[in-house]
Parts: sequence; C-alpha cells; structure tokens
Amino acid sequence: MKIAVPRETRAHEKRVAATPETVKKYRDLGFEVVVEAGAGLGAAITDDAFKAAGAEIAADAAATLAGADLVLKVQAPDEAETAALPEGATLVAMLSPYTNRDLVKRLAAAGVTAFAMELVPRITRAQSMDVLSSQSNLAGYRAVIDAAAEFGRAMPMMMTAAGTVPPARVLVLGAGVAGLQAIATARRLGGVVSAFDVRPAVKEQVESLGASFVDVPNDEAASAETKGGYAREMSDAYKARQAQVLADHVKKNDMVITTAQIPGKPAPVLITEEMVTSMKPGSVIVDLASETGGNCALTRHGEVVETPGGVRIVAFPNVPARVAVNAAQLYAKNLLTFVTLMVDKETKALKVDTADEIIAGTLLTQGGAVVHPNFKEAE
Ligand code: NAD
Repeated sequence: MKIAVPRETRAHEKRVAATPETVKKYRDLGFEVVVEAGAGLGAAITDDAFKAAGAEIAADAAATLAGADLVLKVQAPDEAETAALPEGATLVAMLSPYTNRDLVKRLAAAGVTAFAMELVPRITRAQSMDVLSSQSNLAGYRAVIDAAAEFGRAMPMMMTAAGTVPPARVLVLGAGVAGLQAIATARRLGGVVSAFDVRPAVKEQVESLGASFVDVPNDEAASAETKGGYAREMSDAYKARQAQVLADHVKKNDMVITTAQIPGKPAPVLITEEMVTSMKPGSVIVDLASETGGNCALTRHGEVVETPGGVRIVAFPNVPARVAVNAAQLYAKNLLTFVTLMVDKETKALKVDTADEIIAGTLLTQGGAVVHPNFKEAE
C-alpha cells in the first residue's frame, strides 16, 4: 500500500501531514511512503530527513500521487488537486466540510474515500486523533505571542528604579482548547488574566489556571453545552446581557484574545465597534475566530486593522501554521493514530469499519457518494 504526502499549496500553509517519526511508523506498518520534494521545509523538515526515515522523495505532485492508496494532507485539496487524486484513493485531511460543500461533492464525484479530521468525535478514545485540539492549543499560545508583539508595552509587572511597569490585563473570550492555552500563556508572560465562556463548566478550568472568570447571569446555562462539549448559539436576551457585562470588561483590558466558535455556524460577534472605541490606545485584540467571521465587529480576516483610536485588531490567517514545526509534529501524530485505527492487522490494508464511531463520524464520501449524515444534502 502506498501513502502519498503532497506539498501543501495553500497560501500561509507551512505544515505537512507527515514527519520523519510518523513515516518510520507507517513503514513499520508495511506501507510505502512517498513525500513530495520540499513538502516539509515550512515545518523545518528536509527531504533528507524524510529519506532517512524511509520515505521516497518524488519530484512533483503528480509523481507523489501516482498509484497512491492513501493521501495524507493538511488542507483540503483545491479543484486541481482533487482532480489529480487517484480514483478510489483514500484522503485524510482537514476538509472544512461545513464551509466547503462543493468540495464534498467533488470528492464524492472523484470516487475518493474522504475523511474530514475535524469531525473526529470528542470522546476519550479519540483524543490522540483530535486535530482541532492539537492545532487550537498551539493557536491559543501563538495568539498571545502575536498580541504581545503588537502591544507596545511589556506584559509582566516590573518594579525598577525608574518606576513601576504595570502588568498587562488580558481578557480571553471563549475558554475552549485555544482559550485555555491563551490563558496559560498570558499568565506565564505575567499578564493579569480574566476569561469568559458561555459554558458554565469552564469556570473551574479558568480559575485553576489562575485567571478570574467573568460571570454573566445565565438562565440558559444548562443548555449552553451540546453533548459533544461544544457551545450552542445563545438567545438574543442572553446575548444582550452578555454584551452589557463584556462592555465593562473589554474597556478595562489591554489585550483581548477571542476564540469563541460554534461548530457549523458563523462565530458570535462579542466585541462591538463601540466596545473597541472604549479601549485604551495601544490595546490589542487578537481574533482567532476570524476565519468564521470573527468575534469582533471590526475584524478583517488576514489583516491587522488599526482604529483611529489606536486599537489594533489582529486576525492572522492560519495561526497554527505560525507555529508550524510543532503544529506539523502534532498533526502528523494525530493522523498516524487515526490511520493505524483503520489498518487491518491481517491484510495490512485499510479497512473502513463504519461500526467504529470514530470512522463513521469522520467519513465524508465513499463509493462515489456523500455518506456523512450531516452533509448528505450536499449531493
Ligand atoms: P470551539 O473552538 O468550538 O469554541 C471555543 C470556545 O468558545 C468554546 O469553549 C465555546 O464554549 C466558546 N463559545 C462559543 N460561543 C461563545 C459565546 N457566545 N461567548 C463565549 N464563548 C463562546 O471549542 P473547542 O475549544 O474546540 O472545545 C469545545 C469543548 O470540547 C471544550 O469543552 C473542550 O474541553 C472539549 N473537548 C473535548 C475533547 C475530548 O474529550 N476528546 C477534546 C477536545 C475538546
């Protein structure tokens, strides 16, 4: 069986779907691995390192993909890349199916068996395959580093002979995987941190990291969290109460890191233009939800916006790729664990066992059709 690891082609993408460590493991499983020349360079992995691990290096995408049974990618393939996938091949990647319905249809039409890694169910057994967690964690870290870089002041309190530098006050909105890492990182850098989330279960986690929890009176608390652990969209009455509380907090903070997302929906707008205007000059907002519309009304995905009042709103694209070495390492390991789950011990071939909830939960297309219940209407 042949595994292909093409070079990622999307703008800002530096990650790669395999590392020398995972190549070795695939070889041990009996697979042949072909990596496109230069595929690892963005993540500081040379072709020689891949070769030393047992991979073959192919000169271009066509040579990499020729005869592949399994294609490992980070980003969803574009139209040309989809057309180049061998018929009947299995594709494992982050396919953003909710915002990429046309791709889902194209993959089905191309006869590809496609798995969307962001659909891995959030159950204990799947934790080691959870790409959203591994990548969000790094994004949360990087968001604070990016905020610190844009902030014209120091973060920790410093008592010097020339005077005292006050600590930066950091507010984190959305305390899921990215938010909790942002809290931890901001604390390590000496910030005074507070955080907010609609899911009440998060309060304890926030406090255990040494941050204070911003309380919004919430009579919908019991229904704020889905069975999968995600947030639901809240009522208009709740949103109004939340806005009142946040308005007060946003203006007191120097940095706001926003991470609030609702799967399959646009990100909730938590910071209004008015709230941005109330912030001190030099304050920074880093919006990690910009890809799904952003948590701040003034966010522009891919840009750093500076308001007339001197507040910067930072929305870098593909934040995990800004920590590409670690992001690739963890992503590749997630994929290895997932693929290993599908390898039939006797035949050494891939076996798509839909009785397994991890396989069924991630399988998007198979046998020329869209098979995932959430996307079937995309056919
Ligand atoms: P996410 O990226 O979908 O959202 C980020 C955070 O934003 C979430 O905490 C969410 O509650 C919050 N949010 C949504 N709307 C909001 C609003 N209007 N105001 C404020 N906050 C809002 O979530 P995530 O980080 O991927 O994690 C979601 C949950 O899944 C967490 O509880 C996490 O611990 C859990 N999880 C479980 C596993 C597992 O058991 N295998 C793995 C990973 C994550």
